[in-house]
Amino acid sequence: MPEQKRDYYEVLGVSKGASDDELKKAYRKLAKKYHPDLNPGDKEAEAKFKEVNEAYEVLSDKEKRARYDQFGHAGVDPNYNPGGGYGGFSGADFGDIDLGDIFGSFFGGGFSGFGGGGGSRRAGPMKGDTLRAAITISFEEAAFGCEKQIELTRSEACDDCKGTGCAPGTTAEICPDCHGSGTIRIQRGGGAFSFATTTSCPKCHGTGKIIHSPCSTCHGEGAVRKTRKITAKIPAGIDNGQAISLRGQGGAGKNGGPAGDLIISVSVRPHARFKRDGMNVYLEQKVSFLQATLGAELEIPTIDGNVKWTLPEGTQPGATFRLKGKGIPSVSGRGRGDQYVTVSVDVPRGLDREQKEALRAFGRAMGELPAEGEEEGLKGFFDKMKKKK
Ligand SMILES: [Zn+2]
Ligand SMILES: [Zn+2]
Repeated sequence: MPEQKRDYYEVLGVSKGASDDELKKAYRKLAKKYHPDLNPGDKEAEAKFKEVNEAYEVLSDKEKRARYDQFGHAGVDPNYNPGGGYGGFSGADFGDIDLGDIFGSFFGGGFSGFGGGGGSRRAGPMKGDTLRAAITISFEEAAFGCEKQIELTRSEACDDCKGTGCAPGTTAEICPDCHGSGTIRIQRGGGAFSFATTTSCPKCHGTGKIIHSPCSTCHGEGAVRKTRKITAKIPAGIDNGQAISLRGQGGAGKNGGPAGDLIISVSVRPHARFKRDGMNVYLEQKVSFLQATLGAELEIPTIDGNVKWTLPEGTQPGATFRLKGKGIPSVSGRGRGDQYVTVSVDVPRGLDREQKEALRAFGRAMGELPAEGEEEGLKGFFDKMKKKK
């Protein structure tokens, strides 16, 4: 990666004759400005942060500064090769600068020392873990919305250290190996054939800082596990298999990042009578033979309660009618579905003699049965019907 290194004084924006205090002041200002925690994902800021740290590392050291003044970059960096790339710095010497001060006063407790971590970890704010929960609600609760309590155990920022992981009165130190970036460059080869890989800093496990006196409550993790009851508002209109997301109710964020989300997947218990498809509700309504024939005033159950419906005369089995706006509210809050009612006709069973006779009278009136007084029984009547064909 050929690059021309900038002058260290220029990097810090100070004059060649700058005093230690001026250097320190300039460095603090720039370290704050470009710190990865404040510029998550910003590669340019990250590069500047490294550059600033490197410059200060040299200029704050009397011996290195003298060599730099005399020989330039070549005097302080054995890998330095103008136009041919340069190697990373090995050990940083921060002298007596109180880096904790920078973070203590500026980051307001955003630091937390999460140990361990894989190779892809890096310093800087990271959103907390996404947590998942599942609930089962009734058909009506889904239709009209409800509040449900969910108990879960999650990591939360430690109260005693405000998530910093540091014992009261102490602060974290910027990792001297990676200068707080959480990653280090490993240089292989040299000159024009050199190449570098970036890897998680082993000294600080990619957190970019070192906690010398860990908080006794969270053991330096900055977070503790807590069991909480979360009240989840389930919106009206939610359907079986859908999920809601509660922002910030997941695991604690890392390095000052925001907490993760809690995702609640919702199962809806089936209803004894209503079926649902999207926003529409379906109901099968039994009516008697008489009601279907003569028409009737019916009470039809809906999710809002019973509504009156006039069944027209001569309604056929399987006829469907619509109750407009009696379906499920839209989950977006706009409008409602409809309820469809399918009529089924209850054929009378177990009639007594008198009832059967009444029906036969009806049959005769309809011409389905022979008139009274004709000697033929029912069997003879049907035989006659067959012959007619
Ligand atoms: Zn480190
Ligand atoms: Zn703590």
